[in-house]
Amino acid sequence: MIIGVIGAGVMGSGVAQSAAQAGHQVVLVDVAQDVLDKSQDTIHNNVRFQAFFSKDKNLEPAIAVMERIRFTTDFAELREADFVVENVPEIWEIKKEVYLSLDDVTPEHCIFLVNTSCISITKIAGLTKRPDRVFGVHFMNPVPMKKTVEAIRGYHTSKETEQATVDFLASMGKEAIVVEDLPGFVSNRLSHLLMNEAAFVVQDQVADPQQVDDIFVKCFGHTMGPLATADLIGLDTVVDSLNILYESYQDPKFRVCPLLQKMVDAGLYGRKAGRGFFAYESLD
Ligand code: NAD
Repeated sequence: MIIGVIGAGVMGSGVAQSAAQAGHQVVLVDVAQDVLDKSQDTIHNNVRFQAFFSKDKNLEPAIAVMERIRFTTDFAELREADFVVENVPEIWEIKKEVYLSLDDVTPEHCIFLVNTSCISITKIAGLTKRPDRVFGVHFMNPVPMKKTVEAIRGYHTSKETEQATVDFLASMGKEAIVVEDLPGFVSNRLSHLLMNEAAFVVQDQVADPQQVDDIFVKCFGHTMGPLATADLIGLDTVVDSLNILYESYQDPKFRVCPLLQKMVDAGLYGRKAGRGFFAYESLD
């Protein structure tokens, strides 16, 4: 199949890698050439690393995987896509602009998969001429390593679209947990409350970031604490998602912690910037 991937940031690069490793042809589109160049390096390094360390001697060489991914700034190259997986930032105006033009650059049968942390799939589907062929796929980060996807049925999503998407995810070795559509779904409606409140705890000087995360890892047995998780997601994305939850539910429990906002204003986006609640030696 031909898979269009829009947005070559943290998630889009992971989706493109997973789809190419599953044998699909991938067209990865971004507005920025430098982002595409970085994405190409990241995917190449990841696949090479995997091939080098894997015990599976039948694993394809990196070059074969890379040959299946086309990196481009030209949306017209989506003209033959069977699926498009959209991964642009969690900002309504940006997503809206993409979906308003997507019907014109893709074939009629193409299914639109929305990778969003919080935005309603039904609201996105309303921007298109094919609301029955729009489905939510909230991939987990890092995409190539996570085997489960929170999938979201919009109001008009057809059974055929749901089945085709579940099959496509299975082709990448991923299981879908299909839920209904309200902002934040299950995962982020719950997890963003925790990450935001953890930032409040640090702001209020109850504990430092390491202590907060240690309590979750060492006491509760979680594999990662809430602040390391926020750094992995990207603090800018966490703030964008909280703003969407706040606007959607009109509930003050989703108000952004001022410390989180300050860190984003200072460019401390977390792992992708090399610094967030914690410092990171490598950006990869
Ligand atoms: P990111 O900022 O790393 O990447 C977004 C990319 O979109 C950038 O490369 C940017 O250049 C590109 N872009 C912006 N406008 C564009 C346009 N009009 N057309 C094409 N490309 C455009 O963001 P991300 O972390 O990859 O998040 C992408 C989506 O996935 C968001 O909706 C986010 O909520 C969701 N998500 C993120 C995570 C996570 O852990 N980061 C997890 C699950 C879902």
